[in-house]
Amino acid sequence: MPDAASSRRLFAADALLPTGWARDVLLEWDDTGKLSAVTPGIDAKGDAPRAIGPVLPGIPNLHSHAFQRAFAGLTEFRGEAQDSFWSWRTLMYRFAAKISPEQVEAIATWLYVEMLEAGYTSVCEFHYLHHDADGKPYADDAELSLALLRAAKRAGIGLTLLPVLYQTSGFGGRAPSEGQRRFIRSTDSMLRLLERLRPACEEQGARLGLAPHSLRAVPPEGLRDALAGLDAIDPSAPVHIHIAEQTGEVDACLAWSGQRPVAWLLDHAPVDARWCLVHATHMDADEYRRAAASGAVAGLCLTTEANLGDGIFDFNAWRAAGGRWGVGSDSHACVNAAEELMMLEYGQRLSTRQRNVGADAAHREVATALTISAVQGGAQAAGRPIGGLAVGQRADFVVLDSSHVALQGLSAPEMLSSHVFASHRTSALDSVYVAGQARVSGARHALHREAASAFVDVRSQLLAKD
Ligand SMILES: [Zn+2]
Repeated sequence: MPDAASSRRLFAADALLPTGWARDVLLEWDDTGKLSAVTPGIDAKGDAPRAIGPVLPGIPNLHSHAFQRAFAGLTEFRGEAQDSFWSWRTLMYRFAAKISPEQVEAIATWLYVEMLEAGYTSVCEFHYLHHDADGKPYADDAELSLALLRAAKRAGIGLTLLPVLYQTSGFGGRAPSEGQRRFIRSTDSMLRLLERLRPACEEQGARLGLAPHSLRAVPPEGLRDALAGLDAIDPSAPVHIHIAEQTGEVDACLAWSGQRPVAWLLDHAPVDARWCLVHATHMDADEYRRAAASGAVAGLCLTTEANLGDGIFDFNAWRAAGGRWGVGSDSHACVNAAEELMMLEYGQRLSTRQRNVGADAAHREVATALTISAVQGGAQAAGRPIGGLAVGQRADFVVLDSSHVALQGLSAPEMLSSHVFASHRTSALDSVYVAGQARVSGARHALHREAASAFVDVRSQLLAKD
């Protein structure tokens, strides 16, 4: 029987540290799940268990709308002569209109199990479903937020909860539509919600932040007052916003203000390293430079952006300006950290007609370079100490299965490359640890079967005709 101390250690023949690959690394963490020592080059592993493959930092998922998992894959048919983000949104509103708190919890629990099995060890939940089906606040205004907190706790994933401020249906204060009735909040009611959620988040080790939905949905005074209120609660809390996802949104912002969305935001809000600019797909050269210089993280949701036909982020321009970035599964058409990295690289290859775009001066292997950057940017966006295998960070990591046919016999950097680019949609992950606890072993989460079955039941209920 291992004693408590040996169960808080792992020996890795290869581990990916923030600086790159290291050999013979002993990882040790304390009973709160924080890494207390990361020692490369040790001679003897003592009684520490040995990882069966290379150990990688867990990738933070910096953008999720949990309930959207229930209709992922169900919008892949032609509904209009020219389908777009906006026709997808109509179906999303139909689902959002009838979902119950119990259903949200079941969907989120399964989604978080899937995330853990796919190499994400934490999630930023951009949560905009607040009220009941009639648009009235629940008896406990935090009902749906608490459902997400419970789901994250049960699955064992790290959480940054970002309640969404949603007030208008378009630039210039356009009144919200009927389909948006469950999202709408005054600034005061949002600040009361944050106060209500604060102790529950602290108790669970979750971070609480704020997500002004977009410049379409939050007028300037709402944005200003909400940010001031957030500062009074926690001046370092993360702030996430959807921005410049669609060219239609850029055109509407220009018509309203004479400025593009990112330029407007940079001129009218205190954008800094607390901020995550989700998508930011459509920026001009000056916006790339200024947004990167602000210290904000670009929240890239590659498979969702591809699925919705958004466009391609200019990764070279962003990195040339020193920009930070991370990845999110957003609408959950794909829930797989490695596939987001592959899609990022492939989008750039297709648009620049070059290869190995994601490599950098320090790391020639694309998968290694992208993993290190996605972890650092994701941690910054999450506002949690989850920046990789280093002392003081959470012991959030994954172990590759070196017996997987795609990985067998390869070096550690080659195994990671194969995991990202050539595991053919099979899982090359063996185990996943969050705060030092194994949540996935043998590629399976302990709740896999039970959570999947509850999810399938809920999806059937939601698809049933009224
Ligand atoms: Zn989103």
